[in-house]
Amino acid sequence: MPVECRESYILDQWEGFNSLELITPGDIKGIVHNHSTWSDGIHTLEEMAMECHRLDYSYFVISDHSKSAGYANGLSVERLYQQWEEIDFLNKKMEPFKTYKGIESDILVDGRLDYEDEILKQFDLVVASVHSVLNMDEEKATQRLITAIENPYTRILGHPTGRLLLSRKGYPLDMLKIIDACAANNVVIELNANPYRLDLDWTWIGPAMKKGVLISINPDAHSRGGIQDVNYGVIAARKGGLTKEFCLNAKSQSEWETWLRSK
Ligand SMILES: [Zn+2]
Ligand SMILES: [Zn+2]
Repeated sequence: MPVECRESYILDQWEGFNSLELITPGDIKGIVHNHSTWSDGIHTLEEMAMECHRLDYSYFVISDHSKSAGYANGLSVERLYQQWEEIDFLNKKMEPFKTYKGIESDILVDGRLDYEDEILKQFDLVVASVHSVLNMDEEKATQRLITAIENPYTRILGHPTGRLLLSRKGYPLDMLKIIDACAANNVVIELNANPYRLDLDWTWIGPAMKKGVLISINPDAHSRGGIQDVNYGVIAARKGGLTKEFCLNAKSQSEWETWLRSK
């Protein structure tokens, strides 16, 4: 058992676990869940994409904040269309490196996402995250997330518990129910690699893999420097025993495109 995994009791009882394929920083092929000056990031979309390219990643998903995130300059539908024009332009300029049209869509109190289906279906990828009303009881918070997971346009559940290490506890969730809902709806769970989040907690990686749920190690970068936070996520993922096979953004670009089309 690799040193990092020795606390992860569930792995040594699982025949499917192959410690030889534990995720490494070099396995990460794409950088998912990032912000730019279109919402609350400090570098432009082009600067962020260029930095990913410079670091030798082969794809990049921009997912700025959505329209109800007024506190973070979230994107109105009109501004979304403007952003998509810039992405199309960048993709011609930077070919074959590709920037995908994502969004970090707020999960509303009742579990709905904050754009109409007509808009949601046009994204390459929707990350659904809770940013408001964090004080629900476990039953309500769990149901809120399950409603979001069951939305046919949700592909990744962002920072599932909302915790901020050293300052804020996550909201209480029945994580096994969340994992089951993700398995049933082909939704990937984020391991947010921001060192203040590391959320999904490493202890749930083994249970998620056992249910066939993929994990995406996402830096949630708000600046060029933040992209490399993905490496903190790899460390946490290794502790939880994440193998390359179960890591969404370890997919090559062609495998990634296949995954994008799988729902
Ligand atoms: Zn977020
Ligand atoms: Zn974010």
